[in-house]
Amino acid sequence: MTHPLLDLPPLGAARFASIEDRVARLLSTGQDVVIMQGEALLPLEGAIRATAGPGTTALNVVTGPYGQTFGDWLRDCGATVIDLAVPFHTAVTAEQVRAAFAEHPEIDFVSLVHAEAATGNTNPVAEIGEAVRAHGALFYLDAVASIGAEPVLPDAWGVDLCVIGAQKAMGGPAGVSAVSVSGRAWARMAANPRAPRRSYLSLLDWKERWIDGGRKALLHAPAQLEMLALEACVERIEAAGLDAVMARHAAAAAATRAGALALGGGLEPYVHDAAEAAPVATTLRAPSGTVAADLVARALSADPALPLAAGGGALAKEMIRVNHYGPEATPGAVRASLAALGAALGEKGLDVDTEGALRAVEAAWG
Ligand SMILES: *Cc1c(COP(=O)(O)O)cnc(C)c1O
Repeated sequence: MTHPLLDLPPLGAARFASIEDRVARLLSTGQDVVIMQGEALLPLEGAIRATAGPGTTALNVVTGPYGQTFGDWLRDCGATVIDLAVPFHTAVTAEQVRAAFAEHPEIDFVSLVHAEAATGNTNPVAEIGEAVRAHGALFYLDAVASIGAEPVLPDAWGVDLCVIGAQKAMGGPAGVSAVSVSGRAWARMAANPRAPRRSYLSLLDWKERWIDGGRKALLHAPAQLEMLALEACVERIEAAGLDAVMARHAAAAAATRAGALALGGGLEPYVHDAAEAAPVATTLRAPSGTVAADLVARALSADPALPLAAGGGALAKEMIRVNHYGPEATPGAVRASLAALGAALGEKGLDVDTEGALRAVEAAWG
């Protein structure tokens, strides 16, 4: 008996290359795109280990937990790391990045997370990219949580290494990921004796054995199911139109923010300025006297399918995350999330207006 997930023909080099080309079109990039056979942490770590070393001075922007991880990898590579940390309720500005260059002209690498699903903020990459280009540093961007939810334009923004994964706003699989690589980034890797080679982390292996060979022979058997799912998910985005998919995420964020404000009870958007709030996910500050993780647990016990989570680590006390991305970027998911939060707050004796919140969701969705 055949099974839809089993007994598939091998995924060949031509099909693999065509999926890379599709991802390149999604990013509007003429740079090389390498699809890596693992979750996005694989190219995120591989790109840092390939380009950073003891001679590197890195400006590492920290607007959430991933920035902290990148700083750890950079230090592990022997780089000198200047952390530019901003509070999680805001975004970094191009001005802050320019000030860091003025203070440390030796900076030759910048790592930045575009949007943070974990903290709900998004950073102005186009403006920051201008500053980075003017300074001449290599620009590394984690766009895992922004791709599909807002524009991601590595060529227009001068991004040298742009990492994406499909599991957030693209509504796709988590087990493969991609990185666009500029000519400058390839040159930096080739000159780095410590860049991984003959390693699962190696981007240079893909350059030398896949790209330079005309993409005729794969390095190893690809993650076939994940590659097919990635192809299907990009096809689905192309059919709907990337702009429409991004608009759906922007509407979900605006509606969640408006609904939370109308709900009352002391619930507030975690990111103060709406312009700095990520379209991929909306974070809320739990009212004083309540614990975010308790409210989320209460809401999920009523409906375990809701896209709700508490913040990670110390943020579990104060941050509620509404993960309205991919299949959850719908009015229904936003309404159900706010109604469940309203019920949980009401049980705590807080005065909430759930009807008003649902009306605000409708009005904001437009
Ligand atoms: C989700 C995400 C990733 C990928 O990490 P997972 O926790 O494995 O999904 C990487 N970077 C950012 C900014 C993300 O939001």
